[in-house]
Amino acid sequence: MTIKTTRATDSRISEVDFEMLEFGRTFSDHMFEMVWQNGAWNEPQVKPYGPVTISPSLNALHYGQSVFEGMKAYYVDENTIHLFRPRDHHDRLNASSRRLCIPETDYETFISGLEELLKLDAAWIPRQKGHALYVRPFVFASEEYIAAVESSRYHFYIITCPVAAYYKEGFSPISLTTPSQGYVRAVRGGTGEAKTAGNYAASFLPARLARDQGYTQVLWLDANEQRYVEEVGTMNIFFKIDGKLVTPELSGSVLSGITRRSILEIARREGMPVEERRITIDEVFEASHQGRLEEVFGAGTAAVIAPVRLIHHNGEKIEIGNGSIGPVAQSMFNTITGIQNGTVEDTYGWTHAVNL
Ligand code: PMP
Repeated sequence: MTIKTTRATDSRISEVDFEMLEFGRTFSDHMFEMVWQNGAWNEPQVKPYGPVTISPSLNALHYGQSVFEGMKAYYVDENTIHLFRPRDHHDRLNASSRRLCIPETDYETFISGLEELLKLDAAWIPRQKGHALYVRPFVFASEEYIAAVESSRYHFYIITCPVAAYYKEGFSPISLTTPSQGYVRAVRGGTGEAKTAGNYAASFLPARLARDQGYTQVLWLDANEQRYVEEVGTMNIFFKIDGKLVTPELSGSVLSGITRRSILEIARREGMPVEERRITIDEVFEASHQGRLEEVFGAGTAAVIAPVRLIHHNGEKIEIGNGSIGPVAQSMFNTITGIQNGTVEDTYGWTHAVNL
């Protein structure tokens, strides 16, 4: 597929200090754009990154009809870039779109547009180990209509940001708290398993309260009984109990993480006992009290693996491990990042190579 391309006249790359990258603040020179109108996606194109003109009556601003994805591209060598599981990310974008009543996109257009973008902005992909180009596809309702109904027009973009390695000086294990004041993230039948803007907006207040109490992030519990562990701010969660790797099942209110999926596939192939099931916060605390809770870690695109050192729930705290990363978390981190960077052979078929 040929994608119309308009090159930026001046690159901003010389203004960027690649040693001082803050996640999500630096954007490369180009972006992919297409518009849904009259029942079809029109004019897929790569153009210079820049402001988008919107009207104050833009539907998405009022009613939150928007979805997004987050994935990474890695510099392997001067001829090759790796995208990690782009088809899974695209499938999830479409699943989110279906829930939000947004038209789906086809993979061919998505991957062609993304490849074109990466080739044009290849210089923006950091070369240092562990660094990457974060890829953010998103779709929003763009009809100028303040009625609480689905839009007839949508804009789709892919923008990219160079990002530094998540861990610059070794792992820094995080602390979690279940939400205060009974806040919940998602209910079954709601939008929890979609990657949609409103889920995140609704999490900001509980996240701020958690930070104010000195915890890194919120450990969400189910909305019905507030007993079952669901996930962390922007990560899924894993527990190693009695030698088994346990993660909450996809209940309909949990985001189906691509990193979670990768960990489960690695564990199963390596013969590690794995359970996807409901797990209560009480079971986690009891396992800890009985010395059976060996590891806890979060899993998501940004950090890949985030070891957890402490969990707070209802005034009680448990501490996990010796404050550093556990062996399963470390081994998962090594395998996944090795496949992403091209230093470990990808026998899973997860990487999509883009030849420069
Ligand atoms: N849960 C939520 C709510 C998230 O935002 C993310 C990040 N996308 C994840 C889990 C982890 O998903 P992934 O491994 O695909 O990044």
